Amino acid sequence: MPFADLGLSDELLQAVTEAGYTEPTPIQAAAIPPVLMMRDIIGIAQTGTGKTASFVLPMIDILAHGRSRARMPRSLILEPTRELAAQVAENFEKYGANSKLSMALLIGGVSMGDQIKALEKGVDVLIATPGRLMDLFGRGNILLTGCSMLVIDEADRMLDMGFIPDIEEICTKLPKQRQTLLFSATMPAPIKRLADKFLDNPKMIEV
Ligand code: AMP
Repeated sequence: MPFADLGLSDELLQAVTEAGYTEPTPIQAAAIPPVLMMRDIIGIAQTGTGKTASFVLPMIDILAHGRSRARMPRSLILEPTRELAAQVAENFEKYGANSKLSMALLIGGVSMGDQIKALEKGVDVLIATPGRLMDLFGRGNILLTGCSMLVIDEADRMLDMGFIPDIEEICTKLPKQRQTLLFSATMPAPIKRLADKFLDNPKMIEV
C-alpha cells in the first residue's frame, strides 16, 4: 500500500518523502489508518520495524489539525529509556519540522530547569520516561488533563524495568476520554491487564 493511501495530510506525505521513505512498513500500513480514525490500538512490533513513525506521523496530523487548549500538553509519549525517548524526539522533529508543534523531552540525567522552563512556556507533546515525568508531576510542574492522546511504547520493557505502577498512576492523571496506543514486542499477562484497564476497544495489530 502506498503512503498516499493511509490518510495522512499532504504535509506529512512530504515529510515522509523528504525522509527518503518510498513505502510504509507493515506496522505503518496497518496502524496509521486506525490511529487517524482515533481508534485505540495495540501494536505488537519490535524496534526496527518503523514503529516510531507509525504513531508519530498520525499524531502530528491529529494535533496539527486539532485545536490547541491553553498551552497544555495534548499528547504524551512514554518510553522506557532516555535513549529511546531521545530517538522518538528526533523523529518527531524530523517529521514535524513544518507543523509548528512544540515538544519537550522529559528524561533523567539532565537538569530539570530547562524542562520546567519548556513546560511553563507551553508544549503540545511530551516525550518522557516514567521516572522523570513522575518527579515533575510530584513537583507540580505538569498538568496532564489536556492530554487526549497517550502512547505507551515498548510496554514489555517498561514491565521488565518495573515501570508498570508508574504508568498506571500516570494513566489516572490523563482524561478518561482519550486515545491510547500501546506498543510491545510481546504481550505478557501484566501488559494484557494494563491494556484491558486503560485501552478502549483497541484494534490489535501484529506484524
Ligand atoms: P523504528 O522501528 O521506528 O525505530 O525505525 C527503524 C528505522 O526505520 C529508522 O531508522 C527509520 O528512520 C526507518 N524507517 C521508518 N519508516 C520507514 C519506511 N517507511 N521506509 C524506510 N525506512 C523507514
